[in-house]
Amino acid sequence: MALEDAKTQVDTAITRKGRRGLAYENAFGGVTSFLRRTLTKDLTGVDLAITGVPFDQAVTNRPGTRLGPRAIREASALQAFDAPYGWGYSPLELFDIVDYGDLAFDYAAVAEFPAVLQAHIAGILAAGAGCIALGGDHSISLPILRAHAAVHGPLALVQFDAHTDTWADDDPTRIDHGTMFGKAVHEGLIDPARSVQIGIRTDNPDTMGITVLDAPFVHEHGPTATVMRIKEVVGQAPAYLSFDIDALDPAFAPGTGTPVWGGLSSAQAAAMLRGLRGLNIVGADVVEVSPPFDPTGITAIAGAHVAMELICLWGWNKREQDGADT
Ligand code: MN
Ligand code: MN
Repeated sequence: MALEDAKTQVDTAITRKGRRGLAYENAFGGVTSFLRRTLTKDLTGVDLAITGVPFDQAVTNRPGTRLGPRAIREASALQAFDAPYGWGYSPLELFDIVDYGDLAFDYAAVAEFPAVLQAHIAGILAAGAGCIALGGDHSISLPILRAHAAVHGPLALVQFDAHTDTWADDDPTRIDHGTMFGKAVHEGLIDPARSVQIGIRTDNPDTMGITVLDAPFVHEHGPTATVMRIKEVVGQAPAYLSFDIDALDPAFAPGTGTPVWGGLSSAQAAAMLRGLRGLNIVGADVVEVSPPFDPTGITAIAGAHVAMELICLWGWNKREQDGADT
């Protein structure tokens, strides 16, 4: 029983035997790994690695997302008690999912950072594991996409965001959380015809051929119709899902660098993420959680919930393929 286990178990991130199953220890104590998964640098036999990318030196406004991965891990402790709601299956039981810890990098060697991150992600993928990243500012998605596109070819991008992040930027040396998806289009990492942005509510006349389902579209038509449009655009292309927490309204996610009103509710986001089951999600991230602007922890909680949904999405198509006993 969970209560009995919680009386005896602590620090399951570093003490648990095996990698599967729920984890029962006091939610308020112990070593904080994401969802109490085993904290390890050993990727042998791992299906999915969660990794933190505590980088926030590419922001246009408020910083602080370097503290995001730690806060998301802490917020996730309570979720480790229960199978994810609304899915009818538990990826924590089916797959070997570990917390691979954070990316190591020289905080002062900013120009080197993208290559260091790309190599980190490429190493995870080369080990045969999938990867979900906890940011960090949104610029981290570009090196992560480079690593994924090297394996899968051009990807469909499913981006939840208040901003398109495709603003013009011809300088390859710039690292900017508002221009990286424009660069991803130019580099051929993502296929704009298969890509979709949801929750946008800042002006950018150049969509670069990406389908934009802005926040007013979601509010007018609702999550179900939005999900149908997303699936029409993406089809079965290998897809990368990037969730900028500022897609949520500041009422639900105030702890972020560039908040914009009129955003998604957490209920709308949950309904859409669950509705996207069946997409061929090969990788994902949740970014822009900034704990210094998150006094109640509400944004980190949202980030942890989004990350759990991303795990469920990642595992959905794999359940019958290789989930049973990999
Ligand atoms: Mn944004
Ligand atoms: Mn963004």
